[in-house]
Amino acid sequence: MDLELAEEQQMVIDMAKAMLEEHCPTQLVRDMEDDAHGVPAELWSQMSDLGLNGLLIPEEYGGGGLGLLEGAFVYEELGRAMAPVPHFVSCVLSAKVLLAAGSDAQKEAWLGKIADGSAILTPAWLEPERGQGEKGIALEAKSEGATFKLTGRKRSVPYASAADQLVVLARTDAGVDLFLVDPNASGVTMKQLLSQGREPQYQIDFDGVAVSAENRIGEAGTGWATWNAAMHEGIILLAAQAIGGADRCLVETVDYANQRIQFDKPLGAFQALAHYMADASTRIDGGRVLVHEAAWNADQGRTIARFAPMAKLFCCEAYRETTRVCAQIWGGVAFTIEYDQQMFFRRAKALQLSWWDTPYLEELIASDVLD
Ligand SMILES: Cc1cc2nc3c(=O)[nH]c(=O)nc-3n(C[C@H](O)[C@H](O)[C@H](O)COP(=O)(O)OP(=O)(O)OC[C@H]3O[C@@H](n4cnc5c(N)ncnc54)[C@H](O)[C@@H]3O)c2cc1C
Repeated sequence: MDLELAEEQQMVIDMAKAMLEEHCPTQLVRDMEDDAHGVPAELWSQMSDLGLNGLLIPEEYGGGGLGLLEGAFVYEELGRAMAPVPHFVSCVLSAKVLLAAGSDAQKEAWLGKIADGSAILTPAWLEPERGQGEKGIALEAKSEGATFKLTGRKRSVPYASAADQLVVLARTDAGVDLFLVDPNASGVTMKQLLSQGREPQYQIDFDGVAVSAENRIGEAGTGWATWNAAMHEGIILLAAQAIGGADRCLVETVDYANQRIQFDKPLGAFQALAHYMADASTRIDGGRVLVHEAAWNADQGRTIARFAPMAKLFCCEAYRETTRVCAQIWGGVAFTIEYDQQMFFRRAKALQLSWWDTPYLEELIASDVLD
């Protein structure tokens, strides 16, 4: 694997970094925590204007047509900035589901709008008290002629109040299917949930919501396979996001450790703390290599059944552990709201628990290892 960045790849990184430094200060991240809408208009339009929302969408739909490796570079910057945007749910997961299985009409209707940021789509996937695999989908989609009636509950649906369409995983006679559902349709109700990561997320109830059969994405019974493939690609980007967050947390902590004097020495001069930072740095660099290897394999069309879950597992663990030791190095102030450390710490745990958690990732890796 060639780890040297091409000129265009470096340009993408520099562009994303510069834009986020200007338009995504920590104060914006704080302001958007638990905001009911949750999409900062200026940042979102900047991302669209720079082509970041369409980065992974083919050129024929107005996107950049770039691969997961370039996506990973951008996601490292999004993680570094803790950018509060619906990019992952709309421009990655929903876009990938539509690209893989959507009808021509569905692709025409939504991919261009996702790419230019004028529409936001979000998946409604998880259900209360149910697992993260295919068996976890219980929400019923009952076929009645040319219509399906959806009944059940979804939880942790990010950015639902800002969404133009929900991408709903539901159980039909054929298995699991994906449906495009208008969040304003009769029978849909939403309740905002408060989470550790404090991104806007909702519980959604579907009470006999009528959905036209034309709004099913893909052939009957293929929904889980489509979703599973989109998630495998998506979690590589989340792994990159974790590395970006961990990296910034460490950079800021190293700076503090060099400035804060205790017992006539900077904190960093104490061996116990220096070793914490050495270990964190090693984890971050190791995780980054794993992300790039997973993304590169995906872009080459090779299997990512093992690499993708490994990258998410390892990088989220690295983020979580980095923020834990960084909090130790900052001392008491790490736990105060005034300092940014607590935001990294909360986001690290939230990311580790979200979009396939540690036990589920271990299950995926184990089934590949034992195969
Ligand atoms: C909201 C809040 C409430 C508090 N309430 C109380 C209270 O009720 N009573 C009280 O007594 N204190 C209280 N404290 C103070 C708290 O006990 C201190 O934060 C704590 O003792 C750590 O000191 P520090 O934050 O100044 O960190 P620092 O002294 O700057 O140390 C930072 C970190 O460096 C490491 N470190 C420091 N020196 C060394 C060394 N020689 N070798 C290796 N590692 C080292 C430690 O891991 C430490 O966590 C409070 C603090 C906060 C923020």
